[in-house]
Formats: sequence, C-alpha cells, structure tokens
Amino acid sequence: MDSYDVIIVGSGPAGMGAAFEIARKKPDTSILMIDKNKYSTGGMRNDCKMNFTYPIGFPQEYWDKPTAEGYLKDVTAFLAPEILHKSNIEVYQKRAERLGGSLLDIRQSHLGTDGGLLLIKRLLADLDALGVTLSLGETMLSVDEEQHLITTDTREISYRKLLIAPGRQGFHFLQNILTSLNVPFIDNIVDIGIRVETRIEHYPIVKDYYDPKFYFEDKVRTFCTNSGDAHVVKEKYVTSRGDTWYSVNGHAYSKERNRENGMANFAILKTVKFTAPLASGQAYAENLGLQAALMGGNRPLMQRVGDFRLGSRSKEDSFNSDYFDFTPTLKDCCPGDISLAMPSKILRNIWKAMKSLDTVVPGVLHPSTIMYYPEIKLYANKPVYRDAMFRVTQNIYLAGDGAGTSRGITAAWASGIRVAHGMLKDL
Ligand SMILES: Cc1cc2nc3c(=O)[nH]c(=O)nc-3n(C[C@H](O)[C@H](O)[C@H](O)COP(=O)(O)OP(=O)(O)OC[C@H]3O[C@@H](n4cnc5c(N)ncnc54)[C@H](O)[C@@H]3O)c2cc1C
Repeated sequence: MDSYDVIIVGSGPAGMGAAFEIARKKPDTSILMIDKNKYSTGGMRNDCKMNFTYPIGFPQEYWDKPTAEGYLKDVTAFLAPEILHKSNIEVYQKRAERLGGSLLDIRQSHLGTDGGLLLIKRLLADLDALGVTLSLGETMLSVDEEQHLITTDTREISYRKLLIAPGRQGFHFLQNILTSLNVPFIDNIVDIGIRVETRIEHYPIVKDYYDPKFYFEDKVRTFCTNSGDAHVVKEKYVTSRGDTWYSVNGHAYSKERNRENGMANFAILKTVKFTAPLASGQAYAENLGLQAALMGGNRPLMQRVGDFRLGSRSKEDSFNSDYFDFTPTLKDCCPGDISLAMPSKILRNIWKAMKSLDTVVPGVLHPSTIMYYPEIKLYANKPVYRDAMFRVTQNIYLAGDGAGTSRGITAAWASGIRVAHGMLKDL
C-alpha cells in the first residue's frame, strides 16, 4: 500500500498553502496531493481576484485581525501580487456613509481567468519540483481514522497526517466525512442574491476600484465585481437527492487578451442566518435554487431593471429591443420575473440596497441593467475544531471554503499555512 507522511485532499489554495509550507519548512516530508479534477477549481481559475485586507475572506469566528494579518504577510510574500491602484475612493465612501452604508478600502490584485490558469500551472510545477507527489483526477471517497488510511476511487493510501480541503463543491462529501468521524457541525448560514450586469458607463466606479465592496443595511453587500472583458456564467449544482439547479456567477479575462467587451457584473447578496429552529442553509438554498430552475425551464432567470420597475416580467423582446443598450453575456438564461421566485424579504432588502447603490454610483439602475437570479453562496459546514490549527481529530485537519475557515483565495491559502503549522509540530 502507498504510504505518505502527509496526504492533502484538494489542490485549491488551501491545499496548496499547506503543501508549499510543509515542503519548504520540512523538505524530507513525503507529501501526496490528490484532486478529483485535473486542475484546482474555484476562484483561482475564475477571475482570480485576490484580496489582501482583513476581514475580506476571513470568517471572524476563526480569525482575529492580528492572526489573519500575520498569515496574510506570508501569503503576500509567496504570491507577490501586483496590487491594483484605486482612485476617488473617499468620494464614494462619503456617499455610502450618508446612506448608512460603507465602502471598504481593500488591497486587491486581479489576474483574470486566463492569468489564474497560468498561475495554477506554475504552482503545480513548483510543487512537483519540491518533491510533492501530485495525483490529479483521483477522488477521495472515505477515511478510516483508526487505520490511518483513506480510500480513493483507485486505491487505499496510508497517512500520518491528513488535510481535507475540498472547497465548496465538496460540501456533501465533507458532511459525510464529518458524520463518519463523529465530528459535530452546523450549516446555518447562506448568502442569497442576484448578479447585476450592466455597461461600464453605468457603473463607472469599476474604473476607480476593481472590486468595490459596499456594505448596506440588512446584511446586504456587493461581492465579486468583474469588468473589462467580463462575463456572467452559470454553475451547476446537484442536490443530495440528485436534482439539478443553477446559480449564476461572474468572471473576467485579463487585459492582456485585448478583448474588452465594456461590461461589468457583480453580485449583491443578503446573508441569511437561521437560529431557531436551526435549519440547514444548504437545504434552504437548494429549495430556492430548485424553485428558480422550475420557473426558468432549468435555467436561471433574468430580468431588465426597466421591466422590474414596471412590475412586468422580462420577455425575449426585452433582450432584443432598441430600448436596451446591450445583450446579456449569459445566453442560456430565461427572461422572467425574479420577484415570483425570490423570498420577498430578501428581494426587498436587495432592491433597497440597489437604490442606495444607484445614489452612490448614479446610473447602475439604468433600465437596461440585468438582474440574474439566483446567485447563492453556500456558507460552509462549521465543524467543531479541537484547536486553532483546524484539527478535527488527532491526525485529521480541515481547511478552506468547504470547512468554513475561509471565503476567498487568500484566506484559503492562509488556512492551509495554519494547518501546516499545526502538522509541523508533530512531523
Ligand atoms: C466561479 C467562481 C469565481 C470565484 N472567484 C473568486 C475570486 O475572484 N477571488 C476569490 O478570492 N475567490 C473567488 N472564488 C472563491 C474561491 O474559489 C475560493 O474561496 C477558493 O478557491 C477556496 O479554496 P479551497 O482550497 O478551499 O477550495 P477549492 O479552490 O474549491 O479547491 C478544492 C479542491 O478540492 C477538490 N476536491 C473536492 N472534493 C474532492 C474529493 N473528494 N477528492 C479529491 N479532490 C476533491 C476539488 O476538485 C477542488 O479542486 C470564486 C469561486 C467560484 C466558484
């Protein structure tokens, strides 16, 4: 049977952060990194914008400011990002504050979807050069903690230390692993909202600040702004019962491609937290996703702001008419009425925030602007950790977005380093 000192499941930023740290600090450690895909998934290959300011991406129940900033220094030193310049930020900040909101001033870099792919390739080659064994296209199925071995779709492998960092896609997988290990967890939070798409001239702030992070009342915020060569995409999700639904998302390519389409898109999301009776955020989100899929003929819904304001559904005409000054970048989407699919409290809060945003950045509520629904961000399972290094059993650690220790690339990387420090004490 193959045997390693450390097995890392997931080659996303959390897994990479751990692998690089261990390989560099203790080069004689045998490390295996497996991933069910050929490349890591998620944000590094979708837009790859990185945030280097606390608390963006760092869940505050696990990270205080000094700790996160300490790890962010290491992440910054390793990834050497080119921080984007911002301008006029005080003007927007003052306007937002007058409306009871705020605009965070975040250090950001942006590689674009094409640039992210190059980064992943380079990082995987560097890991290989450091002696880390990579097995891409291999899926972990289960773990036997007593025997110190994992079972994958091709073999059994033994470990001394195991990191499971399967990202958000690994949500159900991680729940099954936690149940098999008797580690308690909850998943009671979810972000629900829409993706807004418009021309850059209707949202010109993106020329001053690539991904402006506005926070408004009612736990509503803007998130994941893309511009230049920007596109809205749909992501497929499958429920535990095997039903399919779609969430929208967005990304942009780098300037180097020279194919700017003049579009901007961003999410506007409301955080919903269940208290009593404690409900699963995942189950709630899935039901909303299925409801939207039902109404959209198994596609997400889209509606022009002009139609929404008049209380009318959007139709094919709304997307082929001289009223409207651009066509949607997501083609496989159903014109409709998002207010029939969205819970009213969420829609009310989001529309209120949109109106505030339109006051801060006048023009974003142009009649042409498209609202796509649903955009859902599943918060992770929150397991009970045994220590600050994200250990759940004697030799098993979890990290990254799937395990609730991060909500973005840089924090996922920092979580991986933190796990590595925990493991290094015993290796
Ligand atoms: C479309 C999109 C765009 C995004 N854009 C950004 C952005 O611009 N900036 C940002 O900061 N964040 C962005 N994010 C979020 C970002 O992707 C995550 O925060 C980050 O990737 C989390 O890192 P991770 O290592 O926890 O998980 P991931 O990066 O998701 O990696 C987990 C890996 O585990 C593998 N895996 C899962 N289950 C198994 C298994 N059973 N066996 C083996 N391998 C398994 C998966 O294939 C995956 O490669 C985006 C996410 C998406 C989906």
